[in-house]
Amino acid sequence: MNDKFVIGIDLGGTNIKGALLDLDGGIIEKREIPTLANAGPEAVAGRIAGMITELEAAVRDTGKSVAGVGIGVPGQPERSTGEVIFAPNLYWRNVPLVKYLRRYTGLPVFLENDANVAALGEQWRGAGQGSANMVMVTIGTGIGGGIVLDGRLYTGSNGAAGELGHAVIEPAGPQCSCGRRGCLETLTSATAMVRMAREALDRGVKTELSKEENLEARDIIMAAQAGDRLALDIVEKAAYYLGIGLGNIINILNPDTIVIGGGVSRAGELLFEPLCRNARANCLDCAGSIVRIVPAQLGNDAGFVGAAKLVLQDNTKKCII
Ligand SMILES: [Zn+2]
Repeated sequence: MNDKFVIGIDLGGTNIKGALLDLDGGIIEKREIPTLANAGPEAVAGRIAGMITELEAAVRDTGKSVAGVGIGVPGQPERSTGEVIFAPNLYWRNVPLVKYLRRYTGLPVFLENDANVAALGEQWRGAGQGSANMVMVTIGTGIGGGIVLDGRLYTGSNGAAGELGHAVIEPAGPQCSCGRRGCLETLTSATAMVRMAREALDRGVKTELSKEENLEARDIIMAAQAGDRLALDIVEKAAYYLGIGLGNIINILNPDTIVIGGGVSRAGELLFEPLCRNARANCLDCAGSIVRIVPAQLGNDAGFVGAAKLVLQDNTKKCII
């Protein structure tokens, strides 16, 4: 067992991050290069393959070997064929990524959605370590989710599980990119917080926040930490809606841990106090009594750490190691 390693790759719209890890999830080598998505899928696959070859070289001379590669993609994967069906940030449709990478590297390659691998990474080596049933919610431009049940990633009947951002919380709420109204994503994401701030600014609410074009969620969090009333109200409102979403998740899945990731999670107690309060107010006591709601720990490493775990998760069935 100890002469094997795994490689995890986190393919993003801007950067490709990757690492060589030991079978306990310890990071041996890390790499990061620009994606250069404009060059097209085959060129991007070539860059990933180059990174894999470099990472593999770190163990090749020692007589040890790499058991496989896991890769998280920002879109919809088809696990059975190894294709990326749709990845809007990369302008990809039906890209046979696994086939490309197998041809270049000769290694087994496992494909998964990026929010799912982030959840698996946090469960393996981050804030969800030791957790059997864990849900991760990532608050960014949108809201991503991943579910780990009985220690394994749960992806549902056709891979669509974990889309927590599109749970409808307020049926008459703001329009969502998915075509519905009042999805969690429209009420709690960084984008939603900025929208709430702009609406208040347009109403003439007194605040330290400026009307500048480049207003970001981090500005709202910083203003809230400095005691700005409007910014505090926005964080409280985001926590209120997210609390309803988490309450539903707690009732349905009875997780022991919920990990909150993404830039907004760095707001600390300002977010977590109202979030935990609202989540507990919206679930049954029995399920609510056991769950911990905690910030993510791995930051940008979560994607490639979880991607690497895919190799071990699948191999428990296929017994390659
Ligand atoms: Zn939606």
